[in-house]
Amino acid sequence: MGRTKGARKRYDFHAHTFLSDGENSPTDMWSAAERVGHRVLALTDHVALEDPTPLLRRLAEEAGAYENGPMTTLIGVELSKVPASKIAEAARRARQAGAQIVIVHGETLMEYVPPGTNHAALAAPDVDLLAHPGLLTEKDADLAHAQGKVLELSARRMHGLTNGHVASLAVASGVDVVVDSDAHRFDELVPLELARRIAQGAGLQPDRVAAALEEAPRRLVKRCASS
Ligand SMILES: [Zn+2]
Ligand SMILES: [Zn+2]
Repeated sequence: MGRTKGARKRYDFHAHTFLSDGENSPTDMWSAAERVGHRVLALTDHVALEDPTPLLRRLAEEAGAYENGPMTTLIGVELSKVPASKIAEAARRARQAGAQIVIVHGETLMEYVPPGTNHAALAAPDVDLLAHPGLLTEKDADLAHAQGKVLELSARRMHGLTNGHVASLAVASGVDVVVDSDAHRFDELVPLELARRIAQGAGLQPDRVAAALEEAPRRLVKRCASS
């Protein structure tokens, strides 16, 4: 595996640690990502309406150990099951507390998520990415594009059931998509080749697969780095 950043091609913007419902520590996740060949791994533990500061402070402390390594760490949150009317405020709070990336737990088919979550997330200025959007509407895909948001194709069992739907709306609206692991354990991190097959499996044509694995992630990293 390459030691330089340039040799690393895998970008993953969604994973969990034992600071929420994951099984491993931040260090376990980032060191596994280094071994898998990641260029970027964001740790995005679940938060709702509680103060995100302790979580982000802890992630920031652990990220410090990777500062000069071959991989870029991002720290953030996944706003989960927050009432839709509170999403914009919770996202702002997370940003102010140091989140480099703010993602929202979208309206997956697999569990109850407050209705209106997708729309509120895409309208919120401080949200970067909508995770597993489920049966996203065409209107919300257009909103995502207009707001410069990123949509997620999910490698996570069950959340990925609507990847094909999300991919086809993304192509139609022009919004960026990325392939995230939503790993809750270090061995659920998705290497580049599997991410490529997930993007293909969602029905993306080769140029769109490349966009989902390279251009869209690079734009998102740039945006996170400037926040
Ligand atoms: Zn989620
Ligand atoms: Zn998640």
